Amino acid sequence: MLVAGGGPAGSAAALDLSRRGLSVALIEQEKYQTPRIGETLPPMIRHQLTGLGVWERFLECDPLESYGIQTAWETPSPRYQDFLHNPYGCGWHVDRARFDAMLASAAAQAGAELVASARIGLCPKRADGHWLLEAVQGGT
Ligand SMILES: Cc1cc2nc3c(=O)[nH]c(=O)nc-3n(C[C@H](O)[C@H](O)[C@H](O)COP(=O)(O)OP(=O)(O)OC[C@H]3O[C@@H](n4cnc5c(N)ncnc54)[C@H](O)[C@@H]3O)c2cc1C
Repeated sequence: MLVAGGGPAGSAAALDLSRRGLSVALIEQEKYQTPRIGETLPPMIRHQLTGLGVWERFLECDPLESYGIQTAWETPSPRYQDFLHNPYGCGWHVDRARFDAMLASAAAQAGAELVASARIGLCPKRADGHWLLEAVQGGT
């Protein structure tokens, strides 16, 4: 089984599938060395990361506690979300590249073959119904 892209979704899928005994290759075009966008996680993430068995590894990434966020989209004026009374505790600010690298490494530790710096190009479907995948090594 092949997972294209080692962002949070791809790495979580590769981790879960590997733990279920499937043979998984996780292909990621980068080496997690450049900044990534999106650094605030809601309290509920604790439940998801615990389910994936990576909560302790997450804490080792030195996330900063967040007790509320103000967002300025969807509504005309900014909206404040208070995490003080959230049953899952506080939210978190993370170094996103480090967070993504942690999830990919957890997937590899669970048995997935992590191929970093490899970019997936064309994926044509052949006449026999199989997919032909082209991956080019040597990303950022
Ligand atoms: C401006 C902005 C701010 C955000 N702020 C937040 C926030 O504060 N909190 C929050 O929770 N979410 C935030 N988000 C949303 C969050 O970034 C996304 O929901 C999340 O990144 C989606 O994860 P993903 O794994 O689906 O995709 P991605 O994180 O986009 O991961 C895709 C992965 O695939 C790799 N890839 C892409 N193409 C190829 C290819 N051809 N071959 C190999 N690898 C490939 C990429 O390098 C990447 O690692 C924000 C998004 C934006 C745009």
